[in-house]
Amino acid sequence: MYKQKIAITINSDFDRGKLYDEFILLMKSLRRTGQITGGFESPYIAENELICYQTTLEQNSLDSIYNNEWVNLRIKNLEEGCNSKLTIEVLGEHIPFYKDICACDLHDSYLLFTTYLNEGSAIECGSCGGSVPIYKIKGLTDKERTDIESWEGDYISCDSLNMGCGVGEKWATKQMSDSKSQLSQAGRELCKRITELTGVSTYYYLYNYRAISIAKDKLRKCPSCNGDWLLNDKWLGFYDFRCNSCKLVSTLTSRS
Ligand SMILES: [Zn+2]
Ligand SMILES: [Zn+2]
Repeated sequence: MYKQKIAITINSDFDRGKLYDEFILLMKSLRRTGQITGGFESPYIAENELICYQTTLEQNSLDSIYNNEWVNLRIKNLEEGCNSKLTIEVLGEHIPFYKDICACDLHDSYLLFTTYLNEGSAIECGSCGGSVPIYKIKGLTDKERTDIESWEGDYISCDSLNMGCGVGEKWATKQMSDSKSQLSQAGRELCKRITELTGVSTYYYLYNYRAISIAKDKLRKCPSCNGDWLLNDKWLGFYDFRCNSCKLVSTLTSRS
């Protein structure tokens, strides 16, 4: 991942508050296309310059080839309002490095997966396990990009309650573990649409932190079709369960 400086000089008398708002909207649009990742940092104004520092998955994540119409519109409005050009500068590689970025030409499958600590993409590659930048997934519309972003936010909120071990922990854990919870239903529906639009099977992960023995956990069946789903070897070094018909994956409990 990389740290990048995005800035623009204000060479006009245009209302600075409005320019600042437009700059924030540009960051939100870049977050939605996956061109910036994680929670974006607040921009600030220093003398005549609007500045922010953001994290990207790749060195060239901010290339205009990955822009959608909204990103282009925000840049156009900003450049007209400021009477100058937006500048982008790669400052350096982000430390610590979270996960490799997928470089596969073809994908056997994707996984919709995140955690409260995830700084990469919410889409994982089923071939290499790397993070797949959203802007590189062909076939998605703004609707899916928006839904990925909101599912990701909801999942991280649940995982944060889960990690807080206090308010809402039980409810949040159920949202993440139960294949029929509101969170899982939204996630699974999204996986179906990603599959239809990209032609790549997309799996949904169910969290598992049950107070049962590993031996008993291994007897668990797929919660959707009740079929066998335990794998002989972990998939991508992480997943212990996978149902190819229901497109669900899970791990053995880490609580026993
Ligand atoms: Zn890959
Ligand atoms: Zn199943």
